[in-house]
Amino acid sequence: MIDKKDVEHAASLISAGSSRSAAAKSIGVSLFLLQKAANDYEVTLPKRPTITDRVKELVPRILEDDDWSGHKIAKMLNVSQCSISKALRQLAIETNPVGCPTKMQNRSLEKKQMVLDYLMENGGYIPRVIKELGLNVDAAAVRRYAKEQGIDPTHYRVAYQEYGFWLVLPGPVERVSVADYRVSARCTLCNTEHKVQLTNLRGGQSRMCIDCSRQDKQWLSVKCVETGRVWSSVYQVAKDMNFDLTPQTIRRRIRIHGEYKQDGRTYIFVPRVNKR
Ligand SMILES: [Zn+2]
Repeated sequence: MIDKKDVEHAASLISAGSSRSAAAKSIGVSLFLLQKAANDYEVTLPKRPTITDRVKELVPRILEDDDWSGHKIAKMLNVSQCSISKALRQLAIETNPVGCPTKMQNRSLEKKQMVLDYLMENGGYIPRVIKELGLNVDAAAVRRYAKEQGIDPTHYRVAYQEYGFWLVLPGPVERVSVADYRVSARCTLCNTEHKVQLTNLRGGQSRMCIDCSRQDKQWLSVKCVETGRVWSSVYQVAKDMNFDLTPQTIRRRIRIHGEYKQDGRTYIFVPRVNKR
């Protein structure tokens, strides 16, 4: 004879997700006997909840946290990952390519953050960054989000553009005339920061800071240490020796390292020699 308590216990196991036969087995009877006893005691054996039902119960928790994965849910409910994916689809919960549920709000947050990260790393305009990343996110929403983070997107509009040896830095862009802006830029030859006017950089009038350009004029000739041969300019030596690097790069290397080596020869700057 089965105790009524056992039947009730089996019923609670089924509610919790056990199959009817597993519940019967856990109280040590066959499914047939369990059903018969349930009838006798007028205990309704619940229907086993579907996986979708069980996942549904977890939804508030899934949407709360970011660290849920299909694997984690499957392990928790002791079912296959495949059935979890199916359940999530049925519940219209967005999943990422590896089947992990993602908080819907977080998706848009993620996108906004992606745009901002890209902007801060590469500079540019928000709408262009969105296009470049191929994201479906509103530019105005990204601007609002940036503001919330204390970031001024206009500081990155021209940031990281390179002109000659200048590298434009992120920061306030100050309008000085209709089409000219004053920005901060680093002279990459000597690593100093300067306020420069963008049109001078864009027009090529300024390629480096004043100090470097003064030095550049003084030290323009190049000497090969090993042979003693002197060229009037980096351009000449690059042409003569068939260097694969551009004269600008070679000049930059000599400036930074004090010398430039190629094919076992060392080239250095020497005071300007005039061609005769
Ligand atoms: Zn400089």
